[in-house]
Amino acid sequence: MTTSRSTLPRTYEVRTYGCQMNVHDSERLSGLLEDAGYVPLESAPDGEPAPVADVVVFNTCAVRENADNKLYGNLGHLAPIKAAKPGMQIAVGGCLAQKDRTTITRKAPWVDVVFGTHNIGSLPVLLERARVQEEAQVEILESLEVFPSTLPTKRDSAYAAWVSISVGCNNTCTFCIVPALRGKEKDRRPGEILAEVEALVAEGVSEVTLLGQNVNAYGVEFGDRQAFSKLLRACGEIGGLERVRFTSPHPAEFTDDVIEAMAETPNVMPQLHMPLQSGSSRLLKEMRRSYRQQKFLDIITKVKAAIPDAAISTDIIVGFPGETEEDFLETLHVVREARFANAFTFQYSKRPGTPAAELPDQVPPEVVKDRYQRLVDLQTQISWEENQSLEGRVVELMVSEGEGRKDTGTGRLSGRARDNRLVHFNGTALPEGVTEPLRPGDMVTVQVTRGAPHYLEADGAVVAVRRTRSGDAWERRTAEPRPTAGVGLGMPSLGVPAPLPDAPACG
Ligand code: SF4
Repeated sequence: MTTSRSTLPRTYEVRTYGCQMNVHDSERLSGLLEDAGYVPLESAPDGEPAPVADVVVFNTCAVRENADNKLYGNLGHLAPIKAAKPGMQIAVGGCLAQKDRTTITRKAPWVDVVFGTHNIGSLPVLLERARVQEEAQVEILESLEVFPSTLPTKRDSAYAAWVSISVGCNNTCTFCIVPALRGKEKDRRPGEILAEVEALVAEGVSEVTLLGQNVNAYGVEFGDRQAFSKLLRACGEIGGLERVRFTSPHPAEFTDDVIEAMAETPNVMPQLHMPLQSGSSRLLKEMRRSYRQQKFLDIITKVKAAIPDAAISTDIIVGFPGETEEDFLETLHVVREARFANAFTFQYSKRPGTPAAELPDQVPPEVVKDRYQRLVDLQTQISWEENQSLEGRVVELMVSEGEGRKDTGTGRLSGRARDNRLVHFNGTALPEGVTEPLRPGDMVTVQVTRGAPHYLEADGAVVAVRRTRSGDAWERRTAEPRPTAGVGLGMPSLGVPAPLPDAPACG
């Protein structure tokens, strides 16, 4: 432990792994650190070596089997750097920290702070204590003391924001580590959530994504089974809020009042991400997921009847212990019936600490691989056909930032349709009279010219442009010089609610 300090403000970097919960927690960690006087690390000019922050925070994920090896690898890499950089501190938080606790400081004694998922608000104090006491601080709480949304948050997007409505989960899916690490579900009061949404809208945000491990179980803690649909309807009353999304719902709690609220609330987008995990009722039982194939398909039928343009996506795990060829064929059956717009597919991997990791009947890797490929091929074909069926359709997009790899140089911009499909469009062919450049957060209307498997293209002229408060907010933000390396997120779309989750961490 080192104590020397310069008079310059100390820099920080947050490295994030895992699901949207962690991404949003990292926004809070950044907010907390900046409140405490730290400044984000600036990236190096091209060609120069990447700088290292005075404080490096790992916000970890315990979902993958080898997550701990990766963490210790990264910590090992930082050990000599820290030894050569007086005053540098390293903190490890998130799910892996909650799980491994003191093991981290035993295996990597150069770590200064270990904090859990329930006490992210303690980070600045723990860093300071580690510095003053010259010894590592490990603080893991078993349950939440303060709902994290009351902490300062550094939002990474000017036009779209995450809003946590609950944390934790009361289910016991056997492949999932969340109940062990994030605890029982805690719900925020509706008034608090709506006040946060209103404050975001006042700052220029047009889109919010309501976030919870089991988002539609919202209300279980205060005993209102319809609390989630009421919340969606209440979001519909907030002027200036153009788009409302949520992730991830659980099929068991997906009640008709939620479908009605989605269909009848104009700013709730026609999009649903609902994890299937397996199409086999037998396997769902083994996974301890309390719905069966028919219930899942019935929900899809009802959603499609009530919201005909809804894009429905899912998460599927292939090769759960004991999965037979018949079980797998049931999954393919559901995929064919549901015609998902998109599916996040995962080869089952043991997650230490979960009941399924102990099951004897693990499926051989070559079988998992083969099934996985068959599933991906089928889903890609369906996604492609569904996207092709949209050719010729006129859609409204919210212009997004950093979602199209080929954007620079081609004049191509990208945006998200109401159903959250990614659309690349010709940003140079603007309607007559529109002279100002488009900004992230602005709305454009385009006609789809081609459906590819994972995105749509609109190569013709933009039909209409609507400059928005979100675009203004983006412009204000970018006018102030902003660092580019403040939060190193392990996610494709920095800080903006991702269209779909990247891991079956919930629902
Ligand atoms: S998969 Fe989702 S519903 Fe199941 S235990 Fe994990 S967080 Fe809860």
